[in-house]
This record gives sequence, structure tokens and C-alpha cells, in this order.
Amino acid sequence: MSDIFKQIIQLAVNSRKILITSHMDPDGDSIGSQLALKDWLESLSAESKILNQGKISSKYLFLDDKKTIESIDEFSEKGYAADLAFVLECPNLERTGKIKKLITDKCKIVNLDHHPDNSSFGYVNYVDTHAGALGEIIYELLSFAGFQLTKNAATRLYAAIITDTGRFSFSNTTFRSLKICSELINYGADPKEINHQIYYNNSESALKLLGFTLQNIKTYNEGKIACMVIKQEDLENFKISAGETEGLVDYSLYLRGAEVGVLFTQKNDSLTKVSLRSQNSFDVSSLARIFGGGGHRNAAGCTIYQDLNSTRDLILQKIEEQFKL
Ligand code: 5GP
Ligand code: MN
Repeated sequence: MSDIFKQIIQLAVNSRKILITSHMDPDGDSIGSQLALKDWLESLSAESKILNQGKISSKYLFLDDKKTIESIDEFSEKGYAADLAFVLECPNLERTGKIKKLITDKCKIVNLDHHPDNSSFGYVNYVDTHAGALGEIIYELLSFAGFQLTKNAATRLYAAIITDTGRFSFSNTTFRSLKICSELINYGADPKEINHQIYYNNSESALKLLGFTLQNIKTYNEGKIACMVIKQEDLENFKISAGETEGLVDYSLYLRGAEVGVLFTQKNDSLTKVSLRSQNSFDVSSLARIFGGGGHRNAAGCTIYQDLNSTRDLILQKIEEQFKL
């Protein structure tokens, strides 16, 4: 670890323009990790920019009080001639979406991840699948670099870790996750306030959509599969954006006996987002990979270029097949 960290620090110190990015529609871990990384880079002399594709869920806006995360869709400059790019939580460059085209051959890539399907596409690769969240890795990197964490940086990393570990409840929660978070509290992270901002901050319409979705939950395979659906018209009727449904899939496993939970979100008539959750040894990441997606054993996803009903039939069939293995 320390040799790679030294190399990363050296690269950061010697670079002029640094791009920080992550996967499309970044989640809490991606957002918190990118912002904390930028806090550190700002303490060095390099210029840095966070650029992502997709919208940031409103519950994470408090982490970015200075609105430093820019969206590629609103990015007006011709390009960003970075000599170094930190790519976080991506198995490959495709997963960054349109950001990929900004990363030229002259730009060295530092690839940081905790997903097992990472393809080591960087100039430097640091992939630790034992980390519950990328935020844990960023904390260790910044500590190794001797960066004195501010309250803001600690808040960002704390948010990254609690969102990826399901507030310390998923199987990726370890001694390390809790130890780092206890240290982050020492640096000023406020557990009550961060929890409040992320989990107690739903709009009335988002809660009503949750109620509606739960009302229509369906089970298959003697209750082992819990299935939820959000149609495009539901988002329109409840007047909420897709980002506000992040985390909704987790409710599927609240059902007694459910071993696999799946949420289908209709993007349009020929595109459906699939979010998968599982208990214990059922590996949903291998299932997501069949369709070009990925993730972790118990939390994975993919996007399928088919309509909602065909996607649902296809995925349910694959899950049932996997149960028989
Ligand atoms: P979610 O269901 O919350 O969108 O994602 C759960 C996990 O699966 C996360 O670790 C996320 O990065 C991963 N994941 C979701 N969709 C995709 C995808 O299309 N491709 C890959 N490689 N990973 C995905
Ligand atoms: Mn993560």
C-alpha cells in the first residue's frame, strides 16, 4: 500500500492540472470521496476540477457547499487539459460516460476503487476490495499524505462510508470502517447532522413514491425474490427526479425471506436501469456483469437496452436460474 500511496502523492505533487471524476450518476461514496480528494489536492499547488456525468441527488448537495462538482453537460470549456486524472469507483473508463473523451493520452490516470470487477486501466491502480467504501481508501491516502482533515473533508468521507455500508449494516462493514469513522468524528464529522441531511431530508413526493412503490412490490420464487418497479410516468406523476430514488431498492430486502431484491427503473421505452441487492452468498454482481454492468456481490446494477417488461422477464428468469445452480 505505502509504495502505491507514495507514487500517487508524487504524481499529485508534480502535476499542474488535475481532473477528478467518477461513474455516471455518482452516489454518496463517489461524491464524498471526490470532494475530500479535492480538499487534499487544494492543499498542494495543483489546480483541480471535479467533473461528472449525470445529476447529483439533492440529499448530497450539502457536501458540496461551494458547488465544485461540475456536470459535463453544463461544461462549456472546449476541454480540460489535465496531466493527471483521478478516476474513482469505475471498472473501466466507459463508466465515466462522456468524461472519457477528456482524458487524453497525455493524461496519467490514477485508478482508485473497491469493486472486484476493476480492470486496472490506470497508470497507477489501487483497488482494495476489502474496503467497505472508497471513502476508507481516500481517508487512508490522505492520512498517509499527512493532510490535516478539515471538518468539511471529514464530513464528506463520513458520508461516503455510511452511504456505502448502509449506515454500518451491510456485510462490507468492518472494524476498519468503524475505526475510520470514529476518527472522522474526531476531525469534526457530526453523525447526527450527516444522517439527518442524507436520510431525514426526503421531499414529500419522494416519500409518497416510496409508499406507492412498496404498495406494488411483487414476490417470486416463494418469496425469495422481491421486485419493485418505477415507471417513467411514476416519476412524472410524483414530480421527482431519478436521483431521488437512490437507496429505494434497499427496502426490497426488508421483506422477511427475501434473498434477492431488484428495482427496475424505466428510463424510456427502450432503456431500463436494474438495481440489484442480495443477502449472503447470492452474487448479484455476476448477474449484472452478464448485461455489461457490475458492482459488489450484494449490491450491483446494470442498464438494459430493452423495454421495462422484457427487462423484468429477462432478469427474473436469470435470478431464478441462479437460484437453481
Ligand atoms: P445501484 O444499484 O445503487 O445503482 O448500484 C449498486 C452497485 O452496483 C454500486 O457499486 C454501483 O457502482 C454498481 N453499478 C450499478 N450500475 C452499474 C453499471 O451499470 N455498471 C457497473 N460496472 N456497475 C454498476
Ligand atoms: Mn463505493
